[in-house]
Formats: sequence, structure tokens, C-alpha cells
Amino acid sequence: MKTIGLIGGMSWESTAHYYAILNRETAARRGGLHSAPILLHSLDFAPIALMQAEGQWDEAGALLAQSAQKLEQAGAGLVAIATNTMHVVADQVQAAISVPLIHIANPTADALLEDGFTNVGLLGTRFTMEMPFYMDGLKARGLNPIVPGVDHTNLNAIIYDELCKGIVREESRQTYINAIARLKAAGAEAVILGCTEINMLIDDSVSPLPVYDTTDLHARALVTAALA
Ligand code: GLU
Repeated sequence: MKTIGLIGGMSWESTAHYYAILNRETAARRGGLHSAPILLHSLDFAPIALMQAEGQWDEAGALLAQSAQKLEQAGAGLVAIATNTMHVVADQVQAAISVPLIHIANPTADALLEDGFTNVGLLGTRFTMEMPFYMDGLKARGLNPIVPGVDHTNLNAIIYDELCKGIVREESRQTYINAIARLKAAGAEAVILGCTEINMLIDDSVSPLPVYDTTDLHARALVTAALA
């Protein structure tokens, strides 16, 4: 099994989920006491969140590219960025390394298409919902992504001010449930949790639409790639 190089800390709350899923999935597939060989570079999220807010994507990309290089040099056979938003700089990161970067949107699109869904709601940070990098990737795979269509400020604030700090509030859960209901009314057949922390609020038991959790799908895809 190849060593999985994970660029995490964005936020560490969701990186902790990745860590658990990578190990559980490896144990499920390999049995016994097997766990995942992982190199984790967990970054300080504060300066990165600032770069996002100020649109300094090249600087943030350089930071992540450097992180990916360190992971490759340390023996990672593949690399992953443990957040949707920072896939803005996925090309810059892939260009810096010779091992594959496993993109978070690919296993997500695969799972939706396999289940026969094309009209899909997308929830995430305002960057993921408003910038072209994520929507275009989904469209290129034949999906028709739909975003909530109202002010995204509140959904975005819940991610940065609460979930990334481990705060889970019922009121915020309801805000997300309402957003999913709006997506359903706009024709969505399923919803992508396109931010790696949204699973702290939403799962299939509360969602008006079937849920596709990028954290879970990405982590499982990393195990598949590491075992290939
Ligand atoms: N983890 C989140 C995501 O998947 C948001 C935090 C970030 O900006 O990286 O987009």
C-alpha cells in the first residue's frame, strides 16, 4: 500500500475525520491490524483563511505546493488536499510534484453519476459555491450543479465561525436544512456537502435530499488509490 500524503489543518476538525476514515477504511479492506500509512502535514489555518479572504490564491497555492513537495520527499506515493476550497490551487499543487494529487471532486462526481444523479445541489464555502473552479469541474463530468441561490454569507459564516472551531449549533443545522430544501425546490436530486466540515451538521437522517459527503468520499478514494 502506498503512503498517503495528506495536507490538512483546513480545518483540523475535518482532518481528524479524514484520519479516522483513512484508517477504518484500510482496516475494512485489508483486515487484521492493518491501518493506513499516512504522512500528515497539518497547516496553521489562520494565515490560509486570511489569504482566502484577501484573494491571495497564488501565495496560498505556493504554500500548499511546498507542503506537497515535502510529503513527496518524505515518501508519499500520492497526495491529497483535505478541503474542497483549497482545490482552487489544485493545478499549482499538482504541477509541483510527480506523484498524483487525488482531487476531491472526482470521487464525488463518480458516486453521483453511479447513483444516476445529474442535478445536484452544492453546499460549501462562498469560494466553492461562487468561484468557477469547483462548479466547472462538476460540469465537465456531466453534472448540473445548483447552488442555494440566495445570500451565501450565512452558510459561509457557519463554516468559518463555528464548524472550523468545533462549534455545532442546532440553529445552524436548521439553516443548512433550509438551504437543502431550497435546492430541492430548485430541482436538485441530491446534495454535495462540498465543504469537509458540513458533515458535522448534516447527514442523511436530517437532509431533505440524499447526501454526498466529500470528506468521506475523498478519504475512501485515497485508500483505493493507495491500494491500487
Ligand atoms: N474545509 C472547508 C472546505 O472543504 C472549508 C475551509 C477551507 O477553506 O479550507 O472547503
